[in-house]
Amino acid sequence: MSNSVVRIENLVKRYKDLIAVDHLNLDIKEGEIFGLLGPNGSGKTTTINCLLSLLTYDKGTIELFGEKMAPNRYDLKKNIGVVLQNVAVFEELTVYDNIDYFCSLYVTDKKKRKELVNEAIAFVGLQEFTKFVPKKLSGGLLRRLNIACGIAHKPKLIIMDEPTVAVDPQSRNNILEGIVKLNKEGATIIYTSHYMEEVEQICTRIAIMDRGKNLALGTTEELKLMIKTGETIMIEAVNLGTETIEDLRQIKHVFHVSYDGKQVKIKCSGGKHNVIRILSYLQEQDISFGRVFSELPTLNDVFLEITGKELRD
Ligand code: ADP
Ligand code: MG
Repeated sequence: MSNSVVRIENLVKRYKDLIAVDHLNLDIKEGEIFGLLGPNGSGKTTTINCLLSLLTYDKGTIELFGEKMAPNRYDLKKNIGVVLQNVAVFEELTVYDNIDYFCSLYVTDKKKRKELVNEAIAFVGLQEFTKFVPKKLSGGLLRRLNIACGIAHKPKLIIMDEPTVAVDPQSRNNILEGIVKLNKEGATIIYTSHYMEEVEQICTRIAIMDRGKNLALGTTEELKLMIKTGETIMIEAVNLGTETIEDLRQIKHVFHVSYDGKQVKIKCSGGKHNVIRILSYLQEQDISFGRVFSELPTLNDVFLEITGKELRD
C-alpha cells in the first residue's frame, strides 16, 4: 500500500449561506496524478485553499504526508508546490528573477538554486524569455512562468489549479506533458480542471465534483463502468416516424432514444452487436439511413448520468 499524501475527511466549507465544499472525502496516494474534475463553481479552488491552510473551514480534517495540516506547518508546506488558478508573479521582476525569488523561499544555497532555476526554465521552455518581465509575455508563456515558480524547488506534492485555462494549444500540450514528466520524476500531482479530455489524458484517478460534493471517484475506466451507457449510436435518418422511434426503444440493450429530425441518438447499455441489431431493424423496415457513428462513453456521459447536466468542454 503506497503512502497517503493527502487525506481529506468530511471537509465542509461555507461562505455564509453557501456550502462551497460539502462533506468531501479524498485520499490521494504517493505517485498519483489525481484529477479534481468539476464545472466552474463546484468547489475545486476552495478545496485546494483549505488543503493549503489558506482558508479556514467549518468541519473536517486534512492530513498531508500523514500529518495534520495547519497554517503554521511550514515543515509540511515546504514539500508542496502550488500553481494557483490566478497567475501570481511579480510584475517588476524578470522571468528569471521571479522563479529565483520563489525558489529562494525554499532553497538558500545560491549555487544549488541557480541549477534549479535553470532547470525549471528549461522545463517550461522559457529559455528565450529569461530577461522578459511578465507583461511582455503572452498568456500561455505567463502560465508557464507561473508553473515554473511553483515547481522550481522540486516539491513532493504539486497542486495545479486549472493551469490550462485560456492557454493556446501549444502551451497547453507543453503544460500537460510537463505534468506527466514531473510525475515520472516522482512528484504526486493534484490537478483541477473542467476540461474532461485533459483529465482523461493524464490522471491516474479522478474525483468528479459538483456543488461541493464528490459524486464519483475512480480511474477513467472505473468511472465509465459506473454508468449505464456502454455505447452511444448515432444514425443520420430523415422522416423517422414516432412508431420507428418506439420500436428502436424496444430493441435489446437500448435504454434511451432521442431524435431531432436529422439524426437519431440511441444510448445502449453494455453488450455487443448493438449497431448490427439496430441496423438490421432499419433494413427490415425498409427505412433508409445515412452515416452511422458509434461512440464509447466519455467522462461527459459519466457527468451527465450522475448530475443530469452536461459538462461541456
Ligand atoms: P471552482 O474552483 O470549482 O470553480 P470555487 O471553489 O471557486 O469553485 O467556488 C465554489 C463556490 O463558492 C462557488 O459557488 C463560488 O461562487 C463560491 N465562492 C468562492 N469563493 C468565495 C468567496 N470568497 N466568497 C463567497 N463565495 C465564494
Ligand atoms: Mg477554481
